[in-house]
Amino acid sequence: MSARPYPVPDPDSAPWWEALQRREFVLQACASCQRLRWPARAICNDCGSDRWTWAPASGRGAIASWTVTHPSRTAGGRPFVVVLVRLDDQDDILVPGHYDGPPDGAGLAIGLPVEAGFEDVEAGDDGRRLVLLRWRRAAQGVERRAQPVRSSDTRSRASWSSSMCTMISRLGWSSGRS
Ligand SMILES: [Zn+2]
Repeated sequence: MSARPYPVPDPDSAPWWEALQRREFVLQACASCQRLRWPARAICNDCGSDRWTWAPASGRGAIASWTVTHPSRTAGGRPFVVVLVRLDDQDDILVPGHYDGPPDGAGLAIGLPVEAGFEDVEAGDDGRRLVLLRWRRAAQGVERRAQPVRSSDTRSRASWSSSMCTMISRLGWSSGRS
């Protein structure tokens, strides 16, 4: 099997890749009109400014679309899912990435809340380490919506904690899967 290619960032996208290696989700922001943009580019589509900054973003969003890829069995490939996520930070930004969930896409739905996760993989012919974006299901949208929990919601809060623990154990966090 051929090695996973190592990215070759250009001057615009280098800060994005550097942030990923630190397991940070950042977005480029126009220094003039403050609009966010992704992927990185030198000119703002809204105001034409060529000045920008990079800023931490929430890394939260909702599934806009997805594909399930079934590589050839003869090549030894396993199915995998790539999702397209509409960001909460600005709803005209769509960011693709691998999905940390069932390889057949079971349970995915348009609008499903997700959040940015990170995976540590080997890439390039020399097997260097690389951190990639890997979207994962958000904790039932509770944090994302930031709704106050009323006293009558004690039961749902308890079940949220329980499912959070289940999710963490299922994900296995940095289990090194690729
Ligand atoms: Zn602008």
